[in-house]
Amino acid sequence: GRKQHIAANVDQIMIVMAVKPPPTRDILNRYLVSAEHESIDPILVFNKSDIDSQVFINIINQYEQLGYQVFKTSNKDPHTIDAIKPLLKDRTTVIVGQSGVGKSSLVNGLLPGVNAKVGDLSENSRLGRHTTTNARLFHFPSGGDLIDSPGIREFGLWHLEPEKIIDGFHDFEPWRFECRFRDCKHQQEPGCALQDAVQRGDVHRQRFENYFNIYHALLAS
Ligand code: GDP
Ligand code: ZN
Repeated sequence: GRKQHIAANVDQIMIVMAVKPPPTRDILNRYLVSAEHESIDPILVFNKSDIDSQVFINIINQYEQLGYQVFKTSNKDPHTIDAIKPLLKDRTTVIVGQSGVGKSSLVNGLLPGVNAKVGDLSENSRLGRHTTTNARLFHFPSGGDLIDSPGIREFGLWHLEPEKIIDGFHDFEPWRFECRFRDCKHQQEPGCALQDAVQRGDVHRQRFENYFNIYHALLAS
């Protein structure tokens, strides 16, 4: 439960997820809410694409449809990593992700020669060890910085008001201002346009539930 600052003055956040260990939408959505609040551009990187997983592909497609910048990478295929490089030029990017998703391998791919320590996945998850413990700043020879952050198990939004969380859910925007009551909390109120959108399938139910999980967790903290 320790709180720790990771980085300051960043332009964009590269959120790395992998087939293994599988991402939880909760952590991804927390990153996205935080990025939105700080006006940081998110880049979603789905790593280990060399491992087949339909569940993973469904998640990728969903976030692509939501309009996020999405990359599928494999550290076994350098071309997939090269595709990210133009986005990092002349910008300060913080790279985040659960331990074991391949973040260190990705940093090595993006910055040959830095030798970020690649850990053993099973050892990482079983012992709860992090291969990276301190944030590190790397410079791209052609311009731009990359900040590698410690493996984060839980990403808190302790600096945010619960009422701000919804701003990070862009897909709610067309509906959430159309409710009968101006101060609608989108829970049990009649005439809630957001709930209607969920019923119709215009808003993904999982995103809606995820929003409330984050909202209530923050209310309780
Ligand atoms: P980190 O904890 O996020 O920094 O992850 P590491 O880079 O240390 O990698 C964790 C494990 O995943 C290591 O065993 C890597 O060899 C493996 N790994 C990393 N990237 C990939 C990938 O793209 N595909 C596959 N199949 N394994 C990978
Ligand atoms: Zn409502």
